[in-house]
Amino acid sequence: MKAAVVSQRHPGKVEIKKIALRDLKAGEALVEVECCGVCHTDLHVVQGDFGPVPGRIPGHEGIGIVRAIAGDVTSLRIGDRVSVAWFYEGCGVCEYCVSGRETFCRKVKNAGYSVDGAMAEQCIVKADYAVKVPEGLDSLIASSITCAGVTTYKAIKVSTVRPGQWVAVWGAGGLGNMAIQFARNVFNARVIAIDIQDDKLQLARESGAEYTINAREEDVPARINELTAGGAHAAVVVAVARSAFNQAVNSVRAGGRVVCVAVPAGDLDLNIVKTVLDGIEIVGSLVGTRQDLAEAFDHALAGRVHPVVQARRLDEINDIFNEMERGAIQGRMVIDMRQTAKTASTQYQESEA
Ligand SMILES: [Zn+2]
Ligand SMILES: [Zn+2]
Repeated sequence: MKAAVVSQRHPGKVEIKKIALRDLKAGEALVEVECCGVCHTDLHVVQGDFGPVPGRIPGHEGIGIVRAIAGDVTSLRIGDRVSVAWFYEGCGVCEYCVSGRETFCRKVKNAGYSVDGAMAEQCIVKADYAVKVPEGLDSLIASSITCAGVTTYKAIKVSTVRPGQWVAVWGAGGLGNMAIQFARNVFNARVIAIDIQDDKLQLARESGAEYTINAREEDVPARINELTAGGAHAAVVVAVARSAFNQAVNSVRAGGRVVCVAVPAGDLDLNIVKTVLDGIEIVGSLVGTRQDLAEAFDHALAGRVHPVVQARRLDEINDIFNEMERGAIQGRMVIDMRQTAKTASTQYQESEA
């Protein structure tokens, strides 16, 4: 089968290779991938930002059909449509796994990073951890919900914003766009979107942001303070820029909560006086649990959120990463394996081994 593989020879790139999938082990299922979205986290993985992983197949926004199951599997059937998410597997028994915080399991495995992911024609999943996709939800849309969707749905949940309150969202790209829709359409919050690109802010307004702020042109905390009469109740940062985190801390009102989602390198400059005197809470939010994902799928099926997706081919993967680095992507690029399967098999490079 064809797969995108983190290159050993060309750092920061992937190569399309033909590789053989191993046999299924107990508890596993074989998935024929229909599509897989491209996430900024994939770029981090490919560039070795979390440590080098040459030979790894990236991809954690996979959607596919179960074609085989190990003998002991009872949670999936052949023909089920399932997702391949960043939260690939937890240990199932630790304090995090049994208390609704399974993504923080210390023995967690992540698709496309610690185990092979879904940027391939086929992949292997742990059956009990592969969340089923509801019937009627388009696979390209479901793909985007599998990471961008569930991550932002969970982040708004973690923000504890209530109906009618203000939430400010930093970053209006693939993730931000989803955060705005969940905040507005599911949590009934009032949304302010912050970005440095006007085209993304335009998309943010179309997605439900009541106000938008270009951080290159305006003093963001001052403007938010003015719009909300004292600061936002919550801030969600999906922008991959340190400055956004600092602005967020300075843009929430007393008792406000800042939810950190993006992972730029470096530290947050935290104003200790404001943090203490205003009782500011700063919290990280990491993807979402299987239950969060099932809920996010249901919201998408009900039409409360509409991911902006564009189908691409597997052989365009390095171009997509390039576009991502340049900030040239609106919404989500999704590799459609059903298109890839139709292209000539002579297009892929053979194994370097
Ligand atoms: Zn992701
Ligand atoms: Zn665990």
